[in-house]
Amino acid sequence: MNPKEPLFGKTLTQLEEVRSLLGLPSYTPKQIARWLYQAHLREIQAMTDLSKEVRRILDERYTIGTEPPLHVSTSLDGTRKYLFPPGIESAYIPDRDRATLCLSTQIGCKMGCRFCLTGKQGFGGNLSPREILNQYESLPERDRVTNFVYMGMGEPLDNLDAVLESITVLTSAWGYGFSPSRITVSTVGILTGIERFLTESSCHLALSLHSPFDEERALLMPIQARHPLKEVLEVIRSFDLPRQRRVSFEYIVFEGFNHSSRHVKELARILQGIRCRINLIRFHALGESVILGDGRALKPASEEQILQFQELLNRKGIRTTVRRSRGQDIEAACGQLSTAKLRGNLHTEPRLFT
Ligand code: SF4
Repeated sequence: MNPKEPLFGKTLTQLEEVRSLLGLPSYTPKQIARWLYQAHLREIQAMTDLSKEVRRILDERYTIGTEPPLHVSTSLDGTRKYLFPPGIESAYIPDRDRATLCLSTQIGCKMGCRFCLTGKQGFGGNLSPREILNQYESLPERDRVTNFVYMGMGEPLDNLDAVLESITVLTSAWGYGFSPSRITVSTVGILTGIERFLTESSCHLALSLHSPFDEERALLMPIQARHPLKEVLEVIRSFDLPRQRRVSFEYIVFEGFNHSSRHVKELARILQGIRCRINLIRFHALGESVILGDGRALKPASEEQILQFQELLNRKGIRTTVRRSRGQDIEAACGQLSTAKLRGNLHTEPRLFT
């Protein structure tokens, strides 16, 4: 017998296909969506406004398909890193009156950024919309989440169909009903993906920048050779985005590498005409030193160097913020997510959920 297909993660259009396939009444897709995304149901038989016969027909071929986390690590600062089956990692980051969930979109990643642990892990596969959304639905702190960032393991625009479907479920009235302004999708800069993302969603975009100079960026990010920064910025510039839609640039500050006055000047030049902000991020060393192609080693810049760089950028009129490091002690900070690493540590702090 074939395994039952999960209902969770399907859009209303896909639930309509289920309805049509099974010959169910026209109102069932909306009812099922409400049970899945608003009532958080775990059993088809509990969908009490569907007739017993409809539930029986559904139950024969479908299951709900949510899965609880296998493991959690808790940071001293309250950040929690979760491991969901079959090896999906997410970070829950509470911060005063908001709580952000950092979602993964792939197991591992193909992009190979030199400063990232996931990049070292290689690629293990794309996540389905169900697997992306399950990181929210099955999170113990689900009801406290206010914001989402697609910044976990993987390159979201390399799995764009699934990412857009998950956003549809998060933002639709029949789904979770979040405003798109609560969602930020981060990318290394895949040209066609950015175009499609900006056209087909209303969420914020974050681009990993890390240097305004092509040769320097190429040392950090292999994607620069295939999708040069200049072309990526041209695509972003070609969109007349509404004020409430934010474009930000992620910038990890490496000591002696990318925070000079030359960098400030060049950033001001290349970002001219784009309403944006730069997020400065502290580099979290990966346990072994990273030596770039030109022989230089990547090291974290000091707090003072980061603040000086911020001051120079602000003076040039570029709105610049410094992202507070969260979850560093449990390796949940930016660039540190890696299931391979987490699995290695499982025996030290297992916690099973029922
Ligand atoms: S930084 Fe993002 S895109 Fe780059 S290797 Fe890591 S997960 Fe992939």
